[in-house]
Amino acid sequence: MGLEEKLPSGLALTTVEKLAGYMRKSSMWPATFGLACCAIEMMAVGTPHYDLARFGMERFAATPRQADLMIVAGRVSNKMAPVVRQVYDQMANPKWVISMGVCASSGGMFNNYAIVQGVDHIIPVDIYLPGCPPRPEMLLNSILTLHEQIQNTPLGVNREAAARAAETAALGA
Ligand code: SF4
Repeated sequence: MGLEEKLPSGLALTTVEKLAGYMRKSSMWPATFGLACCAIEMMAVGTPHYDLARFGMERFAATPRQADLMIVAGRVSNKMAPVVRQVYDQMANPKWVISMGVCASSGGMFNNYAIVQGVDHIIPVDIYLPGCPPRPEMLLNSILTLHEQIQNTPLGVNREAAARAAETAALGA
């Protein structure tokens, strides 16, 4: 009997998936940009006190093409929305998004014509972080939660297509 027949089905693929998940979560590079006051707290996590470098993320990428994490830190104005979408589109796949603070997640106190009422109207969001502003510890916690999600995501999942399908199903319901 060959080795493959002796191994439980899917064992090799599961191991490769775990390894890929581990490498992905340990080498995320956030895109460099901030939209409003939440960005000040986001910058704080890069300082020695909070030490984002512990998680292999000390490098905020100055070009979206070298970034795979978008931290939407602050309210998104309608004028800025196409730019946020363009930066997202230019990021390498697979990529993830943290919506930081109530303004990014829902418009917050800016319930008016100028502000997008939730960045998930323009890009898919993986983690919604509440607070105004969320403290750096909260951002670190959401990053670690995202790491866990990434570690457990099967290879080959097209997250954007899945999000679109869920959206279409919800509209049809
Ligand atoms: Fe500013 Fe608060 Fe909105 Fe963050 S959630 S952008 S701190 S007003």
